[in-house]
Amino acid sequence: MALLTHGPGLKLSNAPQFEERYLPGQSAPVTGIYQCVGCGFEIVRIATKFLQAGGDRGLPRHPAECPGILWRLVAQIDERPSLLSRRQ
Ligand SMILES: [Zn+2]
Repeated sequence: MALLTHGPGLKLSNAPQFEERYLPGQSAPVTGIYQCVGCGFEIVRIATKFLQAGGDRGLPRHPAECPGILWRLVAQIDERPSLLSRRQ
């Protein structure tokens, strides 16, 4: 499970990409943290890169006992520099 800290850098969202489920081999619609619905394994994926069945090279592997890999988005990265725009 992804860990979060309380603070002004977080915002709740009802965006539709959080309701979708993604198969291995599909492209990530946004950059963020994706969690496997079958086992809870999490990965970080950059938008347009494939959601793989396994873990990235050098990182933990997807558990072999997972009953079925299906990804959901749990946290989306906001790539806009919001702190810099407030200072102007
Ligand atoms: Zn899994």
